[in-house]
Order: sequence, then C-alpha cells, then structure tokens
Amino acid sequence: MLKRLLRYLLNYKSNIFLVVLAQLLYAVFSIFTLSMIVPFLSVLFGQVDQVTVRPEFSLTTRYVIDTFYYYMGVVIARYGQMSALFYIAGVMILLSFLSNLCRYMGMFWLAPIRSGILQDLRHDLYERILILPLSFYSEQRKGDIISRMGADVQEVEWSVFSSLQSLCRDPFLIIIFVGTLFAINVPLTLITLIILPLMGYGLAAIGRGIKKYSLKSQQLLGRMSSLFEEAVGGLRVVKGYNAEEQTYEKFKHENFQFYRLNKRVFRINELGAPLVEFLCILVLLLITLMALVWLPTSATMKGTVFMLYFVVFARVIPPAKALVTTYYTLQKGMTAASRVYEIIDADEKICECQNPMAIHTLKDSIEYKDVSFSYGEGQEMHQALHHINLTIHRGQTIAVVGPSGGGKSTLVDLLPRFYDITDGELLLDGVSVNKYKISDLRSLFGIVNQDVILFNDTVYNNIVFGMENVTEEQVIAAAKVAQAHQFISEMEDGYQTVIGDRGTRLSGGQRQRISIARAILRNPEVLILDEATSALDNESEYSFQEALMPLVKTKTAIIIAHRLSTIRFADEIIFLKEGSIVERGSHDALMEARGEYYHFYTAQTEA
Ligand code: ADP
Repeated sequence: MLKRLLRYLLNYKSNIFLVVLAQLLYAVFSIFTLSMIVPFLSVLFGQVDQVTVRPEFSLTTRYVIDTFYYYMGVVIARYGQMSALFYIAGVMILLSFLSNLCRYMGMFWLAPIRSGILQDLRHDLYERILILPLSFYSEQRKGDIISRMGADVQEVEWSVFSSLQSLCRDPFLIIIFVGTLFAINVPLTLITLIILPLMGYGLAAIGRGIKKYSLKSQQLLGRMSSLFEEAVGGLRVVKGYNAEEQTYEKFKHENFQFYRLNKRVFRINELGAPLVEFLCILVLLLITLMALVWLPTSATMKGTVFMLYFVVFARVIPPAKALVTTYYTLQKGMTAASRVYEIIDADEKICECQNPMAIHTLKDSIEYKDVSFSYGEGQEMHQALHHINLTIHRGQTIAVVGPSGGGKSTLVDLLPRFYDITDGELLLDGVSVNKYKISDLRSLFGIVNQDVILFNDTVYNNIVFGMENVTEEQVIAAAKVAQAHQFISEMEDGYQTVIGDRGTRLSGGQRQRISIARAILRNPEVLILDEATSALDNESEYSFQEALMPLVKTKTAIIIAHRLSTIRFADEIIFLKEGSIVERGSHDALMEARGEYYHFYTAQTEA
C-alpha cells in the first residue's frame, strides 16, 4: 500500500530533492544558531577564552571555535563587552533567519507534492468511479463511497503530508543534533541514547491505540454520510411520512458512537505531549546529576557548554517524537488509503475484449439467444431474466410490457452492457456485444429512462451532454421534437437557464422532455424509451406520441410502457412476467388470444 502511494511521489523527484536540501540546511543553520549561546553567555558572564594568536587553518571544530574567540577578543578589546554582545546577537539573528528561511522553503516546495498527490489520488478515484459497472453501486452504499472520496482522501493527504514533512526533516535534525551532543560530551550522550528509545517505546504504545480506533472511526464516518445523503435525498418522504423522529434517532445513535470513538482517539492523542515533556525533565535532571557525580565538570565542560548541551538535547526530543508518531500516522493513513484503493481496485467486471470491433450502425438485427441474467452473486443472487429469445430487426418497433418487476428494464440494460448477461448470447448483427468497443456500442443507443438525471448546468448543456460539434439549430430542433422548446423559451434565460441541482426547479414532465431531447439529439441507431413518458399526463403523452412517432418509425426502437394505449402500433409486443416472455405478437393478435395481455389491457382501459 505504502509502495503505491510512494509511486505518486516519483512525479515530484526534483521537488523532493529541494525539500531535502532545504531541510538539511535548516538543521545545519539551527545548530549554528544554538551554538551561538556559548559565546553569548561567555561574554555575558565575562568568561571568554583568551585566544591571542590567530589560529592556523585546519578542518577542525577547534579551529572554528578558536578563530571565533580570537575575533571576539579583538572586538572586546577594541569596542568593549556590550558591542561584542550586539555582534553575537547580530550573527544569531542572521543564522536564525537563514535557518527559518530554509525551513519555510522546505515547506514551500513540499506544497506542490502534497496537493499534487491529493489531486492524483482523487483523479484516479473519479476516473474509476466512472468506469465501474452499475452493479458496483447497488452493492455499495453511496454515502460510503462519497465518504471515501472526501474524508478518506483527506486523511491520506493529512497523514502523507505530515509524514513526508517529518521524513524529509527529522532524520537530519536528529543526526546533526545527536552529532553535536557527541561532539560536546561522549559519555553523557551515550547514556542519552539509551534513554531515548525507551521514550520512543512509550510513544509507540500510544500510536497503537490510535491506529486501533482510526479504522472504526473512518467506517462510522462513512455510515454517517450515508445517513446524511439519505436524509437529504429522501427529505420529501421523510417529511411526508412523519419519519423525522425515527430518522433522527437512527442518526443520533451513529453520531453517539462516533462521538465516543473520537473522544477516545482525542484523549490518547493528547497523552503524547505531556508524557514527553515529563520524561524530558526527568531525563535532563538525570543527566545533570550523573554529570555532576561522574564527571569532574570543570575539567570537561564549562557551565556555558553544559547549557548548550541542555538546549540541544531539548531540541532532539521533538523530531525524535515526530519520527515515532510518523510511523503511526502512516499506519492511520494506510487504513484510509486501503479504503480508497478498494474502490480503485474494484473489479471492472464489464471489460472490453482485446482488439474490440468498431460499430457505428445497426445493419441487420439485435438478437437475444436464450439469454439469462442474474443480479448479484452467491447467496444474494437473483435471477431476473430466464431464457429470453427475441429478435429485433432494423427499423422495427418492439414494445415490452408486463407487471413491474418483470424484468423489462433489465432486458434493455443488457444492450449497452450496463450489465453483462449470465448465460446465452446477445448479438448485434450476428456478433456478440462483448466483441464491440464499449463506447461505440453505447453510442448506438439513445436511452430515456423513467428516472431522469439532469445535471446542475444550463438546459442547453444538459441536452448536449457528452456530445461535441453540435449546432444550436440541432439542439432546438431536438427540443422541438421532444416538445420542450416552448417551455424552455419561456424560461428566464431560455436555453441558458441553469436548472439547479438535479433539475429540481422543473416539473417532472419538463425534466422528462429535456431528457428525451437529449436522446433525440444523439440521433441514435436504436431508441430505447424506458417508461419515458410516465411523468406526462394523458393528454401531453398523446401529443408527444404524435411528435415522436415519425422518429420512432424511422428508427429501431424498444419501448417499455406502462400505458398500453401508447404502444398499440408496435410491430411486436412482448409480455414479460417474472423474467420470462409469456406472450408475444401484435396488439390485435394478443387481444384476440385473450391471455395476460388482454387482461392487462382491459383492466387498464376500464380504469
Ligand atoms: P421492471 O423494469 O419490469 O419493473 P426490472 O428489470 O427493474 O423490472 O427488475 C427485474 C427484477 O430484478 C426485479 O425483481 C428487481 O427486484 C430486480 N432488480 C432490478 N435491479 C436490480 C439490482 N440493481 N440489483 C438486484 N436486483 C435488481
């Protein structure tokens, strides 16, 4: 998992180099800044080493220190002690400025990496969501998927970012600071190095606690956004059925669980800092006492140098702690990442074969040969279609009728491969649909569904949706056939009116007409109307039919209709019941047979 995330990093090689460089410089400059404490305090307490002769050049710390003291001696002798203090303060300010500048530059160059990884991850995820088959979404909760796109990606971002920041900086800080500690005093530092890992171990225990709860908390968050989504989407029903109380109780329960978990994570999280501070004081005092007992201080270390030791020691702790925490932050991030990758890795199921065939026109026929289809797998399998045999010749109009749940929508969903058949053969011009290029295949069909999906965009863009190179005249012509032109023209900005989220500002009939215009504009080879006119009242359905008829007559069409009066003209009527074709024939023949269709029809006309 980590490897996959690191792969995203490869795109940012030069930035990573810059970040590392800046952080290295930051570590070096900050140790210089800290080292200035020694001369500062020495001057303040009048304990400056007398170096009267300029030292000979050599690559040793002794040389650097002696040279420094030599010039200090010169400054003090010439300008007095106060000036020397200003002089040292000036150097300190400069060094501190440089170190913090480097630190900032490190973050500056880290920013594109951080945001970039996030962008890449979201991109992969979104692309995947568009590719995944419809069946994926009936198995998974929508809110959960949205939560994975939002909260989990955010979590990955946060953890990767803070880990990157820590990994690019803290090792250098630790190496350079510990190196300095060794340079000052070897025995003391050896003792410190034994104590530090012990502290690390304590912190690690905390990290484990956090990890345990983080997966649970992400899962709960997913469930909660599901509930939000359901509440908002189903508000009309919730209100209409007075189910506010019940819905609220359900949410309250989940929210409470989330609260408890969060509380725990927060409490464990906050344990780290006080523990570290307390341990630090403990270790510092321990070191001081040991130094007093074991080392004749005056011989090895001056008071000022001892101060430096303390200060540097105190500065080793935060990066050491950060490194330990990073390990657990990464673990937490990985839990979130695995939830994101579950989507990215989900089975495509609807796969394009190698060397797919192109198809732009239906030359001959659509043929269902002993087709069976089941939703779901294993225990939850539900067979929706049984051994369907049906041939639709080019130019024919086929109507599919029957009780709801009979499998009508499923039958047509197989054509654009929204689902793949379980058994039998589905042929276009004698070739299995699986052999064609999926995008070609889908553009053969113009589909108008019962549940109209409009996007938060202008009317115009909703009609054009997904098409390129269309003229305004074509759009208007399509709208006219769909009987949508008039009401669109009456809207405030005509075709450029933004219709709001999911088209809630339009009536059901208006939305349906827009979606019909969308299908007409495509001028598809095969028109599929799946209860396309169900939201229209009887009268407008009639006039609509009049308008649509010429189009349907020139096309191959499959019409699923509830109102049987609208499909009397069809070449063949298929009566589907419980997934099987129980009757077929023309309207007149079926009426004469006095079977299921006849009863269905008479029941409706009488009503
Ligand atoms: P119709 O269009 O005739 O009303 P459908 O084709 O929508 O019928 O449904 C046929 C059967 O398949 C029904 O029993 C329905 O419950 C089931 N079904 C439909 N869609 C799904 C799905 N996404 N997952 C599982 N079962 C489904």
